[in-house]
Amino acid sequence: MSKWQELDRKYMMHTIDRVPVTLVRGEGARVWDDEGRVYLDFVAGIAVNSLGHCHPVVVEALTEQARTLIQVSGWFHTIPQIRLAQLLVENSCLDRTFFCNSGAEATEGAVKLARRYGHLKLKGAYEVITARNSFHGRTLLMTAATGQDKLQKPYLPLPPGFKHADYNNVDAIRAATTDMTCAVMLEPVQGEGGVNVPDDDYLAGVRAWCDEKGILLILDEVQTGIGRIGSLFGYQEYGIEPDIMSLAKGLGSGIPIGAFLAKEEAAVFAPGEHGSTFGGNPVTCAAAAATVGFIIENDIPANVRKVGRHLLDGLNGLRRKYSFVTDVRGRGLLTAIEFETDIARTAATACLERGLLVNLLKPNALRLIPPLTIGMEEVDEALEILDRVLAGITT
Ligand code: PLP
Repeated sequence: MSKWQELDRKYMMHTIDRVPVTLVRGEGARVWDDEGRVYLDFVAGIAVNSLGHCHPVVVEALTEQARTLIQVSGWFHTIPQIRLAQLLVENSCLDRTFFCNSGAEATEGAVKLARRYGHLKLKGAYEVITARNSFHGRTLLMTAATGQDKLQKPYLPLPPGFKHADYNNVDAIRAATTDMTCAVMLEPVQGEGGVNVPDDDYLAGVRAWCDEKGILLILDEVQTGIGRIGSLFGYQEYGIEPDIMSLAKGLGSGIPIGAFLAKEEAAVFAPGEHGSTFGGNPVTCAAAAATVGFIIENDIPANVRKVGRHLLDGLNGLRRKYSFVTDVRGRGLLTAIEFETDIARTAATACLERGLLVNLLKPNALRLIPPLTIGMEEVDEALEILDRVLAGITT
């Protein structure tokens, strides 16, 4: 264990089993450790570094803004925040924006907004239906929203107000709806819950049901938003529009920022009903505006579709080659490879030794979520490493 890792063990809470590598530098799709070893990064800050590491456009926006104005609070107008809100609204189906600092905070804000809507327009309805195997964040309220027993159990009792229904099943949502339901909240593709891709008509079915009942559809696009699954926003892949959407991860290409957006009719907060000290901070908003602007101007979602298809084709090739690869799934550059047995950690360690970072999704599955700017050659390089790693695994 290196000096840094010993200090980490001494001073940090042990909330995660970190990979035994200390990263010190990044550029594009590569990172370097403190011993000078280089890795191809197919984790990307857990689907965060949209433009790769230290993209000049982001670095430039950050440094320029840091020299100019860093923090003033929400009491004052600031230009980067307004520019970013305009960019998000003009390129989405939504009308109004609220900025915060993380995915959990963004999604919790979206739920608060739906509850407020329920108070004002749905006779006090407050319940939100979410999906089994969903993931919405680590605050207590988002732990309650998350449809995974193992994440909820250590924290019981959880705040009330959520019902869980099977994912990719409109009937299950119909059955869970009551007079107390104010919204349904879903991920367009479930990320942390296993990279679960729903049928193409699922979200349209849920949208139609929400319209019939007069309740809101919230999409948690913290992982799928900002190009990750092949369109600027995940909902565009499914031909529907949400009433409220949360964003974070890829929005700042590594700079911590979250947001939720709403249609005009759903944007019911009055002054004083929600807030954040750091939300809309000029530096984070400048980085996010540079990220989103670059993604739109350079049609990065087109790269995601092209390279994502190539990655999935390659992974499917591995499935044909190795009988213990039982599933390959994904959309855009949110992809996973699943094994018959719990060999994912062994495979991830072997990838690391060969210079590839991959994410341990489940004991039997790896997630591949590279920067959105990744090229075909880098995907080929990752596939070659995976191939060699799987060839060395005896099950
Ligand atoms: N929602 C979704 C869909 C996520 O994937 C995540 C994180 O993985 C979150 C919310 C929570 O985001 P954060 O870790 O930034 O709080």
